[in-house]
Amino acid sequence: MSPSIGLQIFVGLPIIALIFRMLEQCRPLARQRLLRRGWKDDIAWYVLGCYLGQFSSAACLGAMLFLRHETGFDFGRLAAVQPGWLQILEIVLISDLLGYLFHRLLHSNPWLWRFHKVHHTSNHMDWLAAARLHPVDKLLGDFVQFVPLLCLGFGDGPLLIYVSILGFQMFLNHSNARINLGQLRWLIAGPDFHQWHHCEDPSAYNRNFAPHLVIFDRLFGTAHIPKERSRPWKYGVRESAPEGFWRQLVHPFQETVLAARTRLRPQSFDLRDWASRTKVQLLRREPSYEIRAALLFAVLVRHRLIA
Ligand SMILES: [Zn+2]
Ligand SMILES: [Zn+2]
Repeated sequence: MSPSIGLQIFVGLPIIALIFRMLEQCRPLARQRLLRRGWKDDIAWYVLGCYLGQFSSAACLGAMLFLRHETGFDFGRLAAVQPGWLQILEIVLISDLLGYLFHRLLHSNPWLWRFHKVHHTSNHMDWLAAARLHPVDKLLGDFVQFVPLLCLGFGDGPLLIYVSILGFQMFLNHSNARINLGQLRWLIAGPDFHQWHHCEDPSAYNRNFAPHLVIFDRLFGTAHIPKERSRPWKYGVRESAPEGFWRQLVHPFQETVLAARTRLRPQSFDLRDWASRTKVQLLRREPSYEIRAALLFAVLVRHRLIA
């Protein structure tokens, strides 16, 4: 489904760089250096993304065939009988809803957030920042968005057009370009919309999740489109996060192992802490289960029901 890796790296990347660099040069959103900090790492993320794209295309196709075989639901080319424009519209809507829900999950689930946080570590927004996606984030996202589309049997042409829209919008929404969408900003997710999602200020966290449209964020109350300002002052996350491609690639796995070990480690018992918590519980008349069991035991002993 996707072009060869060599073509994506040696032809695709220079073309994308030329288009979006020209756009950023003509209509810059903020002043920043051409070769900003971390650009080499983001090139490495782009190259890794090309390999992952090939793998995920095959894996999504395999998952679709597996689901068809296991569930017996075979839609065949059901969606493909519709006109092409209608298929593209349906694909965008379905994909946007699934992308929105999955993106919310990436932010709310601590395990997934460790991997998605890598995408939020960029302190500068430009087209290349879009490439910074951890493999776990990218592969799970592709699965969530593409397996249902393949199962519904959309045509190859509309799917190919959609993949082009997805790639274009992904680079555009991270670009350092001032794009005036006019009233369409209330419908289409542009750079103004997505760059608030990367805002470093916690007051703007968990906003603007959808990849294509604004409608689902507005519907679920997570849209943030301030009229007075088109971009945040600062990008990134306030949590600790390493810099550099290799460290960012490995760090989420290290955090996961550390969290699992902490959870499995036996907790040390602090008698003073336990006594003060128990006192508070008794004062509130909300004793814990251990206290209730101890009180029950004392009552039974008192009434000589047990020795
Ligand atoms: Zn995010
Ligand atoms: Zn982003």
